[in-house]
Amino acid sequence: MNHLSVVDGILHVEQLALPELARTFGTPCYVYSRAALGAAMQGYKDALAGRDALICYAVKANSNLAILSLFARLGAGFDIVSRGELARVLAAGGDAGKVVFSGVGKSATEIREALSLGIMCFNVESEAELERIENIAAALKKRAPVALRVNPDVDPRTHPYISTGLRNNKFGIAIDQARAIYRRASQSQHLAVRGIACHIGSQLLDAEPAAEAAAKVLALADQLASDGIALQNLDLGGGMGIRYLDEDAPVPATYLAPLLAATAGRSERLVFEPGRSLVGNAGLLLTRVEYLKRGTEKNFAVVDAAMNDLMRPALYDAYHDIVPVAASRHTALPYEIVGPVCESGDFLGHARKLAIAAGDLLAILSAGAYGMTMSSNYNSRPRAAEVLVDGAAAHLVRRRESIADLYAGESSVP
Ligand SMILES: *Cc1c(COP(=O)(O)O)cnc(C)c1O
Repeated sequence: MNHLSVVDGILHVEQLALPELARTFGTPCYVYSRAALGAAMQGYKDALAGRDALICYAVKANSNLAILSLFARLGAGFDIVSRGELARVLAAGGDAGKVVFSGVGKSATEIREALSLGIMCFNVESEAELERIENIAAALKKRAPVALRVNPDVDPRTHPYISTGLRNNKFGIAIDQARAIYRRASQSQHLAVRGIACHIGSQLLDAEPAAEAAAKVLALADQLASDGIALQNLDLGGGMGIRYLDEDAPVPATYLAPLLAATAGRSERLVFEPGRSLVGNAGLLLTRVEYLKRGTEKNFAVVDAAMNDLMRPALYDAYHDIVPVAASRHTALPYEIVGPVCESGDFLGHARKLAIAAGDLLAILSAGAYGMTMSSNYNSRPRAAEVLVDGAAAHLVRRRESIADLYAGESSVP
C-alpha cells in the first residue's frame, strides 16, 4: 500500500491520521490516496513515453467519480463493461472518444447508446455480438468502430476466477476463428474495423503470459494486413498484478518491456487497460473492532466491515494485509478477522496475529481495486463511505448510504 506511513505510532494516509478520518467519516470507510493514484498513472505514462499509446483505465476496478475524473484529467481513456460505467465516465468528465467497450453481454440498448455517444471502439466478444452491432449501426445509419477481442488460449497462471484467456473461458473469440470473422467485418458498410484486443486475466505477476498472448495477437495482425485489413489499434488489455503480501509484483516499466519490445517499430497505436495496478494499492478499508471473542479453537475479532464491503476474501480467498491503526500494549494473538454478516464465509483474514482490543481501528490494506465496486447491501447493510485524501485534506467522495437508501426503490403491495 502506497503513501501509507506510521507517524508517532499512528497510521497515516498522506498527511492524515486514520483515527481522525474515522472520527470525521465513521467506519467502515474506504480511504484512497490521491498521490498514490497519480503515481500509479505516472508509472504507466513513464513506461510508455515516446510511444503512441493510450491507457484505458478499467472502470470496474474502482468506479468512483473522483477517481475517474482524476484519471480523465491525467489524459486517460476508459475500458467499460456496461452503460452504467459509460455514464460514470461521462459524468466524471471523461471523453467518449477514448472509451473501449468490453464484455460478453452487451445489450442492444448499451450498443445503441455507446455508438450514439461516439466511443472509440467496441471490443467484440462473439460473432453474434458483431452481428448485433452491425444491425444497430445500420439502423442508426452509422459505422461502428470494432475490434475483435481474441482469446489467445494462454494460461495466465493466476486464480481460475480471474483468468480469462484460456480456450475454456467465456471471454473473446477463439484466435483461430478470428481471421474469417475479420474478413467478413471488413466488408460491412456499417462496421469500421479498428483493431484487435486481448486480455488474458488479472493479478498477473510476470509478463511472460502477456508477452506470449501478444505474440499471437501480432501474428494475427500481420495475417490481417496481408488480407488487406490494416488495424489502427493493438489493445493488449490489463492484468498487471500488485503486492498484497510479499508478492514480487512488477512495475509498468518491467511488465510492459517485453510488450513494447515486441511491438517496436509497428505503426499501430497501443492500448492498455490496467485496472487493479492503478488503484489497488492506493486504497484501504478502515474498520473498527466491535468485539473480541475467545473461542476454544480460534479467537475471533468481529469488525464493523464485512464481506458485503470487501468481497474478495470470501469470493477468491484473497489475502489482504490487516494492520492496527495504532500501536498498543495488548498481547498479540492470532485472530480470525470476521464481519457481522450471517455467513461462515464472511471473513476478511484468517489467523492474523494482532495486538488489539475492542474499539481499536484496523486498516485492511490494498483494497482500492475490486473493493467498493464489488460491495453489496447484503444483510441490509448500508454501503461504506469513500474518502479521498489529498495531502492534508480529506474529501468525502461518496457519502455513507443511509438506512432509507436501502429500500428507496421498493414499495409494498396494496
Ligand atoms: C477486468 C478487465 C481489465 C482490468 O484488469 P486488471 O487486472 O484490473 O488490470 C482490463 N480489460 C478487461 C477486458 C477486463 O475485463
